[in-house]
Amino acid sequence: MPLETVYEPQRFEPHWAQWWLDSGVFRAHLNAPGRVFSLAIPPPNITGSLHIGHMFEYSEIDATIRWHRMRGDNTLWLPGADHAGIATQMLVERQLKAEGLDRRQIGRAEFEKRVWAWKERYGGTIKQQMIRTGTSCDWSRERFTLDPGLSRAVREVFVRLHEKGLIYRGEYMVNWCPRCHTALSDLEVVHDEAPGNLWHIRYPVNGLPRHVVVATTRPETMLGDTAVAINPKDQRYRELHGRTVQLPLMDREIPIILDEIADPEFGSGAVKVTPAHDLNDFECGRRHQLPKVQVIDDTGQMTAEAGAYAGLDRFEARRRVVADLAERGLLEKIEPYTVSLGKCQRCKTPVEPLVSIQWFVKTKPLAEPAIRAVEDGRIRFIPENWAKTYFEWMYNIRDWCISRQLWWGHRIPAWHCQDCVRTTVARETPSACAHCGSVHIQQDPDVLDTWFSSGLWPFSTLGWPDQTEDLKTYYPTSLLITGFDILFFWVARMIMMGLECTGDVPFREVYIHALVRDAERQKMSKTRGNVVDPLEVTEKYGTDAVRMALLQGAAPGTDIVLTEERILSARAFANKIWNAARFIFLKMEWSGVEAWQPAEAAISPDAPLEDRWMFSRLSRCADLTGRAIDRYRYHEAAQTLWQFFWHEFCDWYLEIKKLRFRENSGLTEDWRSTLTVFEAALRLLHPIMPFLTEELWQRLPKAAGRPISIALAPYPESNALALDPVAERDIEVLQEIVTSARNLRADMKADPKQALEALLYSRGSAAEIARHQGEAIEKLANLKLEVRAEAPPPNLQGALRSTTEFDLLLRVPLAQVEIQRKRLAKETGQLDKLIANSLRQLDNQEFLARAPEQVVHSIRQKLAEYQAQLKKSREALAALDT
Ligand SMILES: [Zn+2]
Ligand SMILES: [Zn+2]
Repeated sequence: MPLETVYEPQRFEPHWAQWWLDSGVFRAHLNAPGRVFSLAIPPPNITGSLHIGHMFEYSEIDATIRWHRMRGDNTLWLPGADHAGIATQMLVERQLKAEGLDRRQIGRAEFEKRVWAWKERYGGTIKQQMIRTGTSCDWSRERFTLDPGLSRAVREVFVRLHEKGLIYRGEYMVNWCPRCHTALSDLEVVHDEAPGNLWHIRYPVNGLPRHVVVATTRPETMLGDTAVAINPKDQRYRELHGRTVQLPLMDREIPIILDEIADPEFGSGAVKVTPAHDLNDFECGRRHQLPKVQVIDDTGQMTAEAGAYAGLDRFEARRRVVADLAERGLLEKIEPYTVSLGKCQRCKTPVEPLVSIQWFVKTKPLAEPAIRAVEDGRIRFIPENWAKTYFEWMYNIRDWCISRQLWWGHRIPAWHCQDCVRTTVARETPSACAHCGSVHIQQDPDVLDTWFSSGLWPFSTLGWPDQTEDLKTYYPTSLLITGFDILFFWVARMIMMGLECTGDVPFREVYIHALVRDAERQKMSKTRGNVVDPLEVTEKYGTDAVRMALLQGAAPGTDIVLTEERILSARAFANKIWNAARFIFLKMEWSGVEAWQPAEAAISPDAPLEDRWMFSRLSRCADLTGRAIDRYRYHEAAQTLWQFFWHEFCDWYLEIKKLRFRENSGLTEDWRSTLTVFEAALRLLHPIMPFLTEELWQRLPKAAGRPISIALAPYPESNALALDPVAERDIEVLQEIVTSARNLRADMKADPKQALEALLYSRGSAAEIARHQGEAIEKLANLKLEVRAEAPPPNLQGALRSTTEFDLLLRVPLAQVEIQRKRLAKETGQLDKLIANSLRQLDNQEFLARAPEQVVHSIRQKLAEYQAQLKKSREALAALDT
């Protein structure tokens, strides 16, 4: 059963992806033995397609999950997707627009149908991509935030919080996107520094021959001013106490109020107050019972309240207001000023602070237990410093605006009565008003913020509010792995909701991973054009290489740099493993192999040195890798495995074993040990490179009682009995001798076909090892070795290499050096001739005119080769002369 010559992951990866799915390898079983390890996926948006950030996150999660599963834990990775309110609605609206339609034209019910149809058609993209890249989720438990079960959980939580007075409806200043036509939470507003102006405007004081100057970055809002505030302690304005000003352009008399909102140190010390269009002014207005005059509407246009400016776009109104003030001599000055401009995260339209009626969650009472859970260690952040960021936010938390003016999402379970104007909040859709019995009720048109349902994800996906077996077994989940960008959007809310609804934490550990960056350490983004498309690189190099490259760079706390070079080198690693396997498959004696058992005897003191060494290294590797994965140190796990597989197993162990294998010898102890190590190494590597390891493992002769997949085979553990420091030291000495000899050969440019005669001097263990392992050393370094267990005599001549650490000196005697010198001299002579020949041909114009281009090209190439060889030979000769 030989292996294909070339490592072609494209040939077998899709096969195993499907096979894992079909054979239920990743399915969690309630009654399975072992400790429970559960994790709910950060649900990707249904609008999503796998990007490199997902691929990185899922590679980390998958490595951890696979490791737990192999350790025999009762392991569940619960997958699913988020309905992604705004994102999905925008996509479908764009589709409608292309058909010349608008959602309001087709109506709410029809629109929702369109979104579901879109979801059926395109919403599964990311799932297919996840399956293809080997994420070992239990797809039988797949959930969607708008599933009936999860929707029921959402209603349950809404009603409960409402009953406890933790959900209320109120007038509030919200960030409004005039384009998306919805309120945005603080977190959905991005702030950009932008060049702007500070306009200083004169407001004439009534009854006094003076004016007061106020400064603003948004002059159009002055049309809605209902007061001017001065600081009660500001001596400059004492004479203005109790007076009024005449609001320019609107000719409205408004009061001068005393309020701390005016900072005597800033500008003139007087500020305009616009309760309808600024959060601080809104609160100041509340303190002084000021009227709210809304001059900008929810589409960003000036309202009738804006008088002469009604109907204008807000930015056009700004220009007109400024021009009109200037014309009336009421503009004191204009100063350039950098403003922090809030924009809609989705569409980048500048947000407009507006007063509206929204639903809120009172977060303080929910935040307190959530803070305690992290303080007392029931939830642990890794890296730890994220806890600080979490606390800072939680201590300053503001009420959470949960209503969105969208059609796609969980509609708020509240019904407004047209007769008594009160609201009925209920789990089941009511037929009449709970207060007056009227049937003239209408459901609130808004839907809930997407993060409301994702905040329930760890328990709603397990069947809550029912006490299902899944919930009892897998909740609290063990771990959450996610990015810091959704620490507040999501992680904090899950903690609050989890504690409130279930009385327990939603997860015990939160590992916050890094960002994937390009070679210039730039965050990958579509606009920068530096995005590595995971599907493209997976197709090109194989999933395993991409996973290896990602995890190798995944040191906690630092961003990971992904380049194509990295993936290429990981592919070379995969290729190395493939070639090692190919050697084993080609050379092994297959008779009697079918029933092979692992070679436990290899760790006996009588076993060959390389076996005692290899099993000791294997045990250390298992120990390091397991601990690294357990501590989210994926880069350490990846690098340990790389070093072990390539530079110990392939470079040394297999090379030594090659000398031991004999033709037609059957399944010798040497073969058994080799197979044992190779099979264990595949299992060690499986969590990081699942496809390659499954492919090779399945093709190994099957030991009795083996599980159907390597994913279910036990993860190798460290074995104290296998640890053999003496063997490790001995192999180190052997490696040193071989390396010294190879360096000597390179110095002399020794003929690769000829063994070099050499002497080894050592008063230490090197002499003994060289005697016992003479055959291996001679073969590996191509030597004829003579060993002298003594200190090297003084004034030694010949080519020398020594290592004091191992007390050894390797010497090629003068006579041998002389032979080398002669060989090199002859070689340089030949090269000189060849070069002269080539040069002559290339000088011959007649020849050049006649010869085909190919021929001339190859002569030039050969000439370059000869010249390079000549240079090396001359250097080697020079080295021999010193
Ligand atoms: Zn928007
Ligand atoms: Zn009523």
